[in-house]
Amino acid sequence: MTPETDTQPRPGGPTVYLETFGCQMNQLDSELVRGQLAALGYSFTPDAGQADVILYNTCSVREQAENKVLSRVGKIAQRKRDGSPVILGLLGCLAEREGTRLLSRYPQIDLLCGPGELNRLPMLIDNAMRTGAVEVADRVALAGNRSRRSATLSAAADNLELLDLSRSFDPDHAGGPRRSAYVRITRGCNKFCTYCVVPFTRGAEVHRPPDTIVDECKRLADQGVIEITLLGQTVNHYRYTHGVAVGLEGREAPQVGPGAAAFRPGAGSGNVGRVTSFADLLGRIHDEVPAVRRLRFVTSYPRDFGDDILQVMRDCPRICRYLHVPAQSGSDRVLKLMNRGYTRSEYLEFIDRARGFLPDVSIAGDLIVGFPTETDRDFEQTRSLLQRVRCKNNFIFKYSPRPGTSAWDRLPDDVPETVKRLRINELLAVQARVSEAVHAEQVGRVVEVFVEGASPKSRAASARGGEVELGWERPSVGVQMSGRTAGDLITVFDLPPGYSAEQVQGQILPVRVERAGTLLLYGHLEAKTRPSPEHGSDPFPAARLAQFEMSESVDFAS
Ligand code: SAM
Ligand code: SF4
Repeated sequence: MTPETDTQPRPGGPTVYLETFGCQMNQLDSELVRGQLAALGYSFTPDAGQADVILYNTCSVREQAENKVLSRVGKIAQRKRDGSPVILGLLGCLAEREGTRLLSRYPQIDLLCGPGELNRLPMLIDNAMRTGAVEVADRVALAGNRSRRSATLSAAADNLELLDLSRSFDPDHAGGPRRSAYVRITRGCNKFCTYCVVPFTRGAEVHRPPDTIVDECKRLADQGVIEITLLGQTVNHYRYTHGVAVGLEGREAPQVGPGAAAFRPGAGSGNVGRVTSFADLLGRIHDEVPAVRRLRFVTSYPRDFGDDILQVMRDCPRICRYLHVPAQSGSDRVLKLMNRGYTRSEYLEFIDRARGFLPDVSIAGDLIVGFPTETDRDFEQTRSLLQRVRCKNNFIFKYSPRPGTSAWDRLPDDVPETVKRLRINELLAVQARVSEAVHAEQVGRVVEVFVEGASPKSRAASARGGEVELGWERPSVGVQMSGRTAGDLITVFDLPPGYSAEQVQGQILPVRVERAGTLLLYGHLEAKTRPSPEHGSDPFPAARLAQFEMSESVDFAS
């Protein structure tokens, strides 16, 4: 959950508290919402108690995520009963999934806006702020399943694209100079995994035109961004056929995804226009936006991940050798019930192929335990998959039945909660050992770390106003910084004396790994390249780092 931080208030504009739940897609949506509202004169506060408008950008993937939001919503009821005129809005997947039923159950909610309708949010807020009676229809914007109706979306029909585009023209109004950014390449999802609400809440898979994506990356790079993460539910299914969807002024428009058939062997040989595949897109961004020093993407789908993508990853040094490629289960029987469209051995074939091309690739995944009918034997298969694949980390979830999905309709949630809990704890314990071993392979190496800021421990200590106690054996009075390697391994190191956190934040720096834990690498800034304090506000000039990059390559274990 991320509450938004302060911006400069503009006189007269309402003050907004915006809190984000869930995935990176939601974080990006919130950034766009924030930009849109800031341009209209709204200011932002991190304190919900001070806000004229409270917005929760919600997640619906698991029941627990929904419950967190609903408990916040419950508390606002009391505030309203006490006479506060605050406006409460629910954005995102919960709003889309539950729809206007929410307004009857929680009358304190003033407006609802689905993730496909965020461009209409200013109008909804405006309507909700009117003191006279406003029709419910004027305070609600939901897509239903409208986005699945047309085969080719035109720019006019796809107003959401305008919201994405607005960010590329003024990326800074999200607040302060940034070095890392998300760029959406695909919206929605067509996979219909039986447990998942995303195809219902975010609609059909829609691919953005490659020129638009590359332009957005360039604009972000011009603003100082050096790390870009491309977002899509199944990024490797990105595929844009040119000349099919053309909007106003002849510009290419977003287009609905072609479906799984387009990825079968021999597909694409018919009478189709020129196609930009995901591999082509990666290559273009890499070559055309060299200022982006780290290009990443999430999430990959284990099926239809071609060698062309692996080749581009191998040949382009600024594309991170990192894959987030969820298996969900290690049992063929469960994978089939989940409608994942691959078997355990196909998943393993992909992992082996990826490691064949990229021996140093760092792999992360997601797993679900307690899917309906999951037996001990099925679970064993998942456990052995986890041990075999050796992901650097796995996000492990207990199955959560979601209304509207086909698993909800067809499969009773028959694995008892106690069994789910035992299974998740067991997998977490196995994953902890695997993660520690994967991390241990880095000890003694020099890794490049994109510094994100003070580590959570440092932040907690400074909030307490006391000395910083580091998370390892020796206590320290310094600040512990935290960042990520190109393979997404979280790395912490002590800030050298004489430097401030701001000076190193947003830089990519060499760190010698001293020791490894389950969650973290611990190291120190490499002495050879450590700058001296007289470098002033930019103690780690790009030239010195380029020197480092040429002299030592980052060395991940295979
Ligand atoms: N598109 C990504 C993919 O296919 O791998 C995943 C997107 S989903 C929003 C993120 C993760 O949430 C999934 O990988 C899955 O592990 C988990 N998830 C989705 N629905 C779930 C459910 N009903 N119960 C438990 N976990 C769920
Ligand atoms: Fe959900 Fe499956 Fe689509 Fe991922 S691929 S978003 S799990 S339906």
